[in-house]
Amino acid sequence: PDIAALDAALVDCRACPRLVEWRERVAREKRRAFADQTYWGRPVPGLGPHDARLIIVGLAPAAHGANRTGRMFTGDRSGDVLFAALHAVGVANQPTAVSADDGLELRGVRITAPVHCAPPDNKPTTAERDECGHWLDRELTLLAPTARAVVTLGGFGWQAALTALRGHGYAIPVPRPKFGHGAFVDLQAAPGHDVPDLRVFGCYHVSQQNTFTGRLTPAMLEDVLSTAVEFAGL
Ligand code: SF4
Repeated sequence: PDIAALDAALVDCRACPRLVEWRERVAREKRRAFADQTYWGRPVPGLGPHDARLIIVGLAPAAHGANRTGRMFTGDRSGDVLFAALHAVGVANQPTAVSADDGLELRGVRITAPVHCAPPDNKPTTAERDECGHWLDRELTLLAPTARAVVTLGGFGWQAALTALRGHGYAIPVPRPKFGHGAFVDLQAAPGHDVPDLRVFGCYHVSQQNTFTGRLTPAMLEDVLSTAVEFAGL
């Protein structure tokens, strides 16, 4: 199995009835501004090279962003902020991402999510997170040979990443380290496991709730990303 095969299988997943109904309804009804476009309306696979050294774990696709364009964080305000920052720290070839064929390339970074289908109100349930967890697990397995750092965007991604990494043989400190902007945790192999050291960074999510209010500024985002990029050896 490789990541291309994983992504090809993922886009056919229909395991979560509520999310299947929602992603397809949004794709049918559309937002007026995108009425002439064909929405993707399916699970959105990870974006970026298959030998990434840095993995960014978000939350879930946006209804009229990735659920429309079929590419993570592409075509919405959250993505505008994220790709501008990735470009600023030198790992994206352009600062914008508007469609799946816009020429965007990431260097050494793969962006994925704990939930691959757009949820109502951007809020997946814990049952949906658990259902989708095996996709993240398998993606992390395939990225494990090269991955050295993870940036989680928001507490949901932080929890999902730590849970998945525990399943990959990492010792997760108890009590579990708390999510925060600028928080990080260094993970090492649990006894009996052979996995390379990995640092997990916390960063506020690039949602409009955070960026419009100034809770997350471009400088704060670039700060975490540049630290993680450097740590990952990119
Ligand atoms: Fe499948 Fe994940 Fe989408 Fe649920 S959220 S239908 S598990 S891809």
